[in-house]
Amino acid sequence: MFETAIAGSLPKPSWLAEPQKLWPQWKLAGEALAEGKRDATLAWIKLQEDAGIDIVGDGEQSRQHFVHGFLESVEGIDFTRKTKMGIRDNRYEAMVPTVVAPLRLRGRVHETEARLARAHTKRKLKFTLPGPMTIVDTIADVYYGDKVKMAMAFAALLNQEARALEADGVDVVQFDEPAFNVYREDVKRWGIDALHRAIDGLRCRTAVHICYGYGIQANIDWKRSLGSEWRQYEEIFPALARSRLDQVSVECINSRVPINLLQLLAGKDVLLGVIDVATDKIETPEIVAGVIADAMKYVPKERIHPCTNCGLAPMSRDVALAKLAALGAGAALARRQFG
Ligand code: ZN
Repeated sequence: MFETAIAGSLPKPSWLAEPQKLWPQWKLAGEALAEGKRDATLAWIKLQEDAGIDIVGDGEQSRQHFVHGFLESVEGIDFTRKTKMGIRDNRYEAMVPTVVAPLRLRGRVHETEARLARAHTKRKLKFTLPGPMTIVDTIADVYYGDKVKMAMAFAALLNQEARALEADGVDVVQFDEPAFNVYREDVKRWGIDALHRAIDGLRCRTAVHICYGYGIQANIDWKRSLGSEWRQYEEIFPALARSRLDQVSVECINSRVPINLLQLLAGKDVLLGVIDVATDKIETPEIVAGVIADAMKYVPKERIHPCTNCGLAPMSRDVALAKLAALGAGAALARRQFG
């Protein structure tokens, strides 16, 4: 019970990439970079195990960014043709690459790190991929001319990689959809359909991660504008409860999400955010167990997986390690108290 997991990303070692950046530059190149990515993946598998994380991941050590790590393997995108776009409903502006031709996978995306991780841990293994809605919110288009059509094209590619990850021995494939909290009507209209396309035929567990973003300033400012109660989940959870996805990863600790909204996810595993990624303050095991106890009022305890609110990529390594340890220790305390 209370099997722990992380949302996805972890800090990259300072010898591999610029530290404490969401979009860091690599410090290595060529074969040295490939070797560095493999070593960083192995280091974090071990460090997650040591911290008591039950469902481990690659910490996204092989990708520069959670969306573009996938896009780099996709044909039909012109990375030199940058378009200025307001993303997440104009929360921030970014220069994004442009879809100019039919989308096709150039080959495997995460084969190396998935097989490496599988060979080096006996624990359950989770891999993350960006969700179709979040991808189309992070890229410009002059080919498809229709956002939903393009999302479905990306969903087919995600499905191709997800099936291959399952064959590599991955136990959980998670799609990251921070855009779900922004375009709630679109989630019901086509966002979940796109995820269903992405998980088509998978027999492993499937998850969707829906947060209020990394602990960066644009997101902190946005959260301040959302008022005293964040009720975004209320609009999308009922549709997610009816979906074919197995697990939903949600932001909880230190958020203004009313915890009783979790009851709208009946029948789903809840990856419960018990670790805040927007502060360097380290949670205590008692605080973590307390959030689990609150959630147990609305979610059957066997369906609760203590998790982080979002990825830890922009944090310092020491803070991330301390937070992983707090997650492991807090879940262990909860098992003793409520098991
Ligand atoms: Zn997140």
